[in-house]
Amino acid sequence: MSFNNILGHESAIKKLKALVSGGRVPPALLFSGPEGTGKFLAAKEFAKALNCTHTPRQEPKPEDDLFAPSSGSPLHPSSLIPHPSEDACGRCVSCSQIDKGVHPDVRIIDSEFQGLLLEEDARKQKTLRIDTVREFTRHVYQKAILSEWKIFIINDAHTLNANAQNAMLKVLEEPPPGTVFLLIAAKKNLLLPTIISRSYAVEFTRLSAAAVEELLERDGMTLDEASVLSELSGGSVKKAVDIKKVRDRLAGIAASGPAKIFKLVSSLPREPYLAREEAKLMLEMLLVSARKRWLAQPPGGSARAYAALIGKLMEYRRFLNQNVSHGLVLEAALLESDKLSVSLDGLRNR
Ligand SMILES: [Zn+2]
Repeated sequence: MSFNNILGHESAIKKLKALVSGGRVPPALLFSGPEGTGKFLAAKEFAKALNCTHTPRQEPKPEDDLFAPSSGSPLHPSSLIPHPSEDACGRCVSCSQIDKGVHPDVRIIDSEFQGLLLEEDARKQKTLRIDTVREFTRHVYQKAILSEWKIFIINDAHTLNANAQNAMLKVLEEPPPGTVFLLIAAKKNLLLPTIISRSYAVEFTRLSAAAVEELLERDGMTLDEASVLSELSGGSVKKAVDIKKVRDRLAGIAASGPAKIFKLVSSLPREPYLAREEAKLMLEMLLVSARKRWLAQPPGGSARAYAALIGKLMEYRRFLNQNVSHGLVLEAALLESDKLSVSLDGLRNR
């Protein structure tokens, strides 16, 4: 992997490459933009490019190379191509350690890191807490072990709670030289203005449906499936993958009418935080399905009925963000949709 494998985001990648080749890197960078668009991947590639040792590739010597020009320069031109210093080689020890997540100077702070600290399920970590910030800042003031740069990637930085953000701010005020913080945030508005103003902005936008489709295909999905999911994804690979999981699970539910709705609701995961996320995803799917139907109607009576359903579904979606039973909300949304024959199955046949 290198920057070349990241689809889209040309201006963000150009900025990052310029920082690497210039050798002057701001102590804090804020990668912001919608979820599932490649911010974390870009941060990882940036860390690799900064710490890459550019170990030269073992090119065949001209005399071993059957295709080398028989007369002419003693060096085959391909062995003279240097690795561009603005990108990672992807093969040196540093690059492969970062790929495997075991580089001692590149640390990832996320829900998994906090889950390990607290000995709890990572998925339960909805906010990053001050103790987590304190834990990793211990390492900020230690010397780098292998590389030039010590890099801390704080994934989902927007989930740092108020105390944690204040603690983070203190570290950002006077970071030791050679330290870089890469803050990744899908919801930049949840960060303190002082954190935003101290960070160099690297902005990401939604991916095109074509880019999502290509990424899903690269991940092994069939063209058909990738094409349907990319349309539903809203430009986010993560959302496409989440929708696939739900669809695969729903495909196993054999029933129809109210019985099916009951089965769908009772098939939600038992853990409330997971169930709520899935209910939200199913509501999104119903909304897409209802919008499709609405667009297919001639203006007038039935179009108005679909528009009213869309309004109701949007209201149910708001309920899911409040402290209301997700099972009841989902059931109501499914029943309401069923009246107009809008269902989750509607997304399968294009
Ligand atoms: Zn490398």
